[in-house]
Order: sequence, then C-alpha cells, then structure tokens
Amino acid sequence: MNAIPPLLDSYGALHCPEFDASNSEHVESIITLYRAYLLEEFERTKEWPDGVPIGEPLKTIMMEIEGETIGFASVDVVRYAVELAYIIPAYRRRGITRAVLKNWRDACPHTLQVKGPISPSARSLCDSLGIPETSQPEEEVAARERLHAEAYATVAAQCRHRHGHPGRPCQQCCRKHLSRTADVVVRMHVNTVTAGALHAL
Ligand SMILES: [Zn+2]
Repeated sequence: MNAIPPLLDSYGALHCPEFDASNSEHVESIITLYRAYLLEEFERTKEWPDGVPIGEPLKTIMMEIEGETIGFASVDVVRYAVELAYIIPAYRRRGITRAVLKNWRDACPHTLQVKGPISPSARSLCDSLGIPETSQPEEEVAARERLHAEAYATVAAQCRHRHGHPGRPCQQCCRKHLSRTADVVVRMHVNTVTAGALHAL
C-alpha cells in the first residue's frame, strides 16, 4: 500500500488526508461524494457508472478546504492506475484534480495510468499530464457488463412505474438504486475493515 506515498499535505488551503474507515466524518463524506459522482455520471452518460471510492487495492484521499470535504480521489496501487477522482462542482476548474494527479504521477514508481472509460474533460486533463488510459482486458469489460446487467435487472424487478420504453431501464429507479449503491458499497468496505480491526485486538 505504500507504493505511492502520502501526498499533498497542502496545496494552498487544500488538505488531503488518507481516507480513514474509523473516522465517521470521512465515511459520511465519502458516501455523499460517491453518490453525487454516481448520479452525475449517470446523468451524463445514461450508463451505469464505473469505479469505486474505497477498498483493496485502492488508496483513497479526501480533499478538504477549510474543514469542508470537497472531493476525493482513489488510486489502484497494484496496477498504478487512477480509479476515481471527484470534486463537487463549486470547486472545479481550480486545478485541484490536476495537482493531485500530477503529484501521484510524479511519485508513482511506474507509469501512472487512469482507468477508463473517462469523461472528455478528464481525458484532456490526463492527456496534458501524460497519464494514459489503461487498456481494458476483455474479461474486465465482460465483468463490468455483467455487473451493469445485474444492476439493470435489479432495477427492472423493483420498478413499479409505468413507462413507454420497454427494454429501457427506468431512469427514476436507476437513480434510486445508484443512491443506495453509494451507501452499500462504502458501508460494506467500512464494516470489513472495522471487523478486521476488532479481530486484530
Ligand atoms: Zn421505475
């Protein structure tokens, strides 16, 4: 886990502590931010979004400005690839993500990559920093498609709305499911870590 060292103690007023599963403020913040990411991505692409904020083999940092958590970023320290980076809209276009990625890129013992698919703005940022998109092995693409299909099946099974597009997942229920997903994914990981810590005692 220490392949990429702790970074960015400060960037102006920006502080980037590592995500701490025993810190309830971190947990609540990352659920809120991850939920915002999922809903925003779904709105943008109309596809089930990819990427998780925390969990092995990820290293995750919180981005804080004057005590407010404004974003997070996670990097896969086995594949040396950025998993997710999200900042709330009010703090975008200030070079914060650029600073974080640049720092990770410079500290990375191998070529830092970014996991796709990525948004057009993320692509131009990564291009300018010389951070290539990872090639995606067929089995990963297949696994992702399976996950998406399962999610859509769950949504379809629970949906009680009438809508005019049979075969197209209900957008309202997708949003509801994504919102729940944020909570489930984060708490599942946090519970695993906490159980591990108790066991270690
Ligand atoms: Zn529905």
